[in-house]
Amino acid sequence: MDLYEYQAKDLFARHGVPTQSGEVVQTADKAKQAAERIGGLVVIKAQVKVGGRGKAGGVKLATTPDEAFEKAQGILGLDIKGHIVHQVLVNPAADIDEEYYVSYLLDRANRTFLAMASKEGGMEIEQLAVERPDALAKVAIDALTGVDRAKAVEIVDAAGFDASVREPIIDLLIKLWDVFVKEDATLVEVNPLAKTTSGDVIALDGKVSLDENAGFRHPDHEALVDFTETDPLELRAQEKNLNYVKLSGSVGIIGNGAGLVMSTLDVVAYAGEEFGGQKPANFLDIGGGASAQVMADGLEIILSDAEVKAVFVNVFGGITACDAVANGIVQALELLASKGDAVTKPLVVRLDGNNADEGRTILRDAGNALVEIVDTMDDAARRVAELASKGA
Ligand code: GDP
Ligand code: MN
Repeated sequence: MDLYEYQAKDLFARHGVPTQSGEVVQTADKAKQAAERIGGLVVIKAQVKVGGRGKAGGVKLATTPDEAFEKAQGILGLDIKGHIVHQVLVNPAADIDEEYYVSYLLDRANRTFLAMASKEGGMEIEQLAVERPDALAKVAIDALTGVDRAKAVEIVDAAGFDASVREPIIDLLIKLWDVFVKEDATLVEVNPLAKTTSGDVIALDGKVSLDENAGFRHPDHEALVDFTETDPLELRAQEKNLNYVKLSGSVGIIGNGAGLVMSTLDVVAYAGEEFGGQKPANFLDIGGGASAQVMADGLEIILSDAEVKAVFVNVFGGITACDAVANGIVQALELLASKGDAVTKPLVVRLDGNNADEGRTILRDAGNALVEIVDTMDDAARRVAELASKGA
């Protein structure tokens, strides 16, 4: 989960990383009031989860509250790389002398953690890495020892920071490591890390990605989830603990096992080309134990997607055998009908693997006219794409 700048800075502050604290507002009026409270020069910053806001006109200085109003009005509603600005951060402006870069990330390729640091912050780091790789220091971090003073010194020396900012940056790097480890982040990035004209070193921008797999250790992280950015169907799926991702096509997909569902998406997209470009409408992995309830929950979410015209249930029976899955489908359809949500869209079911024949018999005996059984994955994908094209 990526955080907004203001959320990242809150985490920084909680771990003692120096940064400015400001106010997040949704209207130009409130930006003006915030600027009045803060006093003096302020910076108005678009809060969107994408970099390069400065270049896109999403970061502006304002000398007076009236100017803060104007600047906020200009930024709110901006489209920055496809992200509409709904809120701005009003911060006391720093008087910048120099801009640096520091980050910690998970270096998957080398199976370790990595610190990156540069005296040349401010610009996009990807560009710096390509154009002037020597200016970007990379230091591996041992997970067991982390960033102690010695490691922080190594990072500072590798980047060649000036003696005047050595100590504050060493201190900051140690605290930033605390953010990385204690919050279970996979990335913390400060760009720019600024040296102000008064000689202070502060994080002027913050980017943090949290590891959602560690969410259970951080009940407070739940408050950081931005529901306005989450698709409503994905939200409902999350509440039911379903592994669901909304896509934009017309063929609803349910499968067991992430690998099978991924390949189902491919097969459906391929088959769909023949039928006017039908595409998968979602990813949904109901996992190993596909109970009637899970199947019902999954079907309910998929069928409430207005874009879905037909559904492909693709199951390979393993530990949970196909007869159990077939019973799950039959009961799910009954469950939905009894709730007044009777299924009206065609379902193509492909069962293979453990007890596939028994499963098919159960579905046939149930006699639901909307359920079609197709033996192979390719044929099922063609059939469901055809049905979706007719339903469109
Ligand atoms: P990004 O473009 O999305 O990475 O947004 P940043 O937060 O990094 O801001 C972009 C640029 O705006 C920075 O590199 C700074 O040059 C400038 N900026 C940001 N905050 C301040 C501030 O408090 N004072 C001044 N003078 N400039 C700032
Ligand atoms: Mn930045």
